[in-house]
Amino acid sequence: MAVGKTALGTLASENDNALQMAKPVALILFGSPGSGKGTQSKYLVEWLKIPQISTGDMLREHIRQGDTIGQAIQARMAAGSLVSDELVNQLVFERINQPDAQRGFILDGYPRTPAQAEEMMRLLAARGAGEVVIHLVVDYNVIISRMSGRRVCPKCGTLYNAISRPPKVDGICDLDGESLVIREDDREDVVRQRLEQYERQTQPLIEFFRKTSERLIEVDASHEKPEAVFERIKSGLQGFIGQ
Ligand code: AMP
Repeated sequence: MAVGKTALGTLASENDNALQMAKPVALILFGSPGSGKGTQSKYLVEWLKIPQISTGDMLREHIRQGDTIGQAIQARMAAGSLVSDELVNQLVFERINQPDAQRGFILDGYPRTPAQAEEMMRLLAARGAGEVVIHLVVDYNVIISRMSGRRVCPKCGTLYNAISRPPKVDGICDLDGESLVIREDDREDVVRQRLEQYERQTQPLIEFFRKTSERLIEVDASHEKPEAVFERIKSGLQGFIGQ
């Protein structure tokens, strides 16, 4: 059932749980470390059936594999510093050319710098893709307390949080029984460094999109549960229908 025309193409609702996009769509998810970007991406993947492209996950995978890229970036990642624009631009370029990303994709953690934003706009224009920017707004102190309780499954990547999303059994992944770990870059000193980086390098990009993008959704993600935040994102996306 077609429900409307947008700048992104025709959107149709199918069983009320998916948007059919005639034109590729890039959902660009902004939010500081710990804002819930990863969780919201997973909801969006399930809803829209388009892949999440997380530069952080891709970089961590290189480190896990211990390949040349992984060895080159390990120290910067562990210190909470950004890796080079050239490297992430190349990784994103390769990833969005994969067959599963042809209808659209969710960018999680990219772009992070003006040079990356420029490259992204160029890539999207070349692909004929339209962008929607989603900004998760979270209070600094909320982030610090959230991230100190964060754990991840080293096997399947599922994220848990002692307060907002505890596993059924303390310290154990619900899905595969693996022992949960603290990511190296979730340590408090590293968290502060990452927040400082975010403020300095990425916040200006949000200002840029606030001024230039017609399709910007800003959601307060400080206090509500992830499911409620997702409902707001959904209604924001549906709000573009008819524009
Ligand atoms: P994330 O999981 O998105 O918080 O990213 C974790 C770490 O990966 C960051 O602290 C950076 O070291 C690196 N990283 C992820 N995405 C980017 C990016 N777009 N540009 C540069 N470095 C990145």
